[in-house]
Amino acid sequence: MATEPSAEQLKALEKRLAGRGKRRRRLWKRAALVIGTALTEGLVRLLEITVALCVTLLLLLPLLLGRLAVRLPAGKPVFDKKRITGYKGNPVTVLHFSGMSGRLARLPLFLELFTGRLALAGTSIREWQPASPDVAQAGISMVKPGIVSLWEIRKGSRIAHEGQQATDREYLYSKRPAYDLLLLLRALPAMLFSENVEAAPGPLFELLDLEIDNITMSEAIELMRRHLVRQTQSSIFFVNPDCMNKMVTDSAYRSALGSADHIFPDGIGLVIAGKMLGTPLRENINGTDMLPFLCSMAAAENRSIFLLGGKPGVAAQAAETIRQNYGASIAGVMHGYFDREKESREVIETINRSGASILLVAFGAPIQEQWIASHRGELQPGILMGVGGLFDFFSGNIRRAPRWMREIGLEWLYRILQEPGRMWKRYVIGNPLFLYRVLKWKLFNRSLNNLKPWNSTRLSDGN
Ligand code: UDP
Repeated sequence: MATEPSAEQLKALEKRLAGRGKRRRRLWKRAALVIGTALTEGLVRLLEITVALCVTLLLLLPLLLGRLAVRLPAGKPVFDKKRITGYKGNPVTVLHFSGMSGRLARLPLFLELFTGRLALAGTSIREWQPASPDVAQAGISMVKPGIVSLWEIRKGSRIAHEGQQATDREYLYSKRPAYDLLLLLRALPAMLFSENVEAAPGPLFELLDLEIDNITMSEAIELMRRHLVRQTQSSIFFVNPDCMNKMVTDSAYRSALGSADHIFPDGIGLVIAGKMLGTPLRENINGTDMLPFLCSMAAAENRSIFLLGGKPGVAAQAAETIRQNYGASIAGVMHGYFDREKESREVIETINRSGASILLVAFGAPIQEQWIASHRGELQPGILMGVGGLFDFFSGNIRRAPRWMREIGLEWLYRILQEPGRMWKRYVIGNPLFLYRVLKWKLFNRSLNNLKPWNSTRLSDGN
């Protein structure tokens, strides 16, 4: 006769059944994951092959026929071969159209979507080097290089300040099918800005009779480091389309800009102007992107920074963020709402006493540029920089546009949505007006006013 199970036996049975249930659920989850991944990969391949087919039929074949007709009779090759680093670091030979530059030359890359050696979205395409430990170390070759990459998109909008390897690594950590899809969508507007920046003619770019430094972020930081090491004082200003508009009508601002040692191009408007003028901008160098790099350099050189400007309390909040996140030493802070006629002397003494090497002045353009230009002789810091609303961003009072918006050149739209009352005129009227002025200047290439108080030797001391 069967005996009743004891309470312990029942508990053990319950546990076993629950365990089995858990195992089964785990198995189901794993199976769903495997099936889901296979399905997603299949869909991605389908999308890649569809895109490859469309591009081949609509663009590649007609262009190929044209190239064959022109180049073969002249005995010239139609394709160039290039070796790039493929999946798992293996060399891959790809084709480019010979005798062409820019995006069209790269069209044959789409053929590699059929072979699967390139992906539509992936890490950036790099030239193959026999042993590239950098790429291996960063694990970058764990995924296929893509015709579209985060690096290319950021390079297009000139904000790839972190460098190729760091950007590829960022992509690796974010890679998911949805992320790739968004990357492809971002690639379309970013194409509007992309061009061969190697074609940039020199370290200066002339726009509306103003000479602007056409250099990369790392070159700009190195230039400032050299000024500090050599103890040559340097005033540095940023210009965006709004500043350029102000400069046209404000002669005091124009001459303050003229007194600067370096002027850096801020924003997508300047990238577009560079494209319109056939002088591609190397990088978009704005204060907000620059600050982390500047702080690292200052920390490495053992230099401190003074923050002057913004509403009371804002510079102190920004200083806290800078100390905590970027490890730079802050020599002092002061708000920007003082009587510049009567109290500048006292403010300058405070700055000089602090021993700061770098002074960031945030009164907005053109007040900050004029203040720096008229007081540079009394100020002791080696770098005097006008930074606009920088402290508002770093104090957390104003949020900066997300990176994806900056990648497609829409930071200005975000600013309008944040402060419509103040910003609509600056952007909605200011941006088209600026582009009109650039176009007019390009066509007639004549001085908007006859004043040209500086010469082209600005970069000679620093370089
Ligand atoms: N500001 C200041 N003193 C003034 C006027 C303005 O410190 O007399 C500050 C203001 O609080 C803000 C910055 O200057 O933090 C100007 O920001 P904005 O974004 O307008 O700068 P812009 O882009 O015009 O250079």
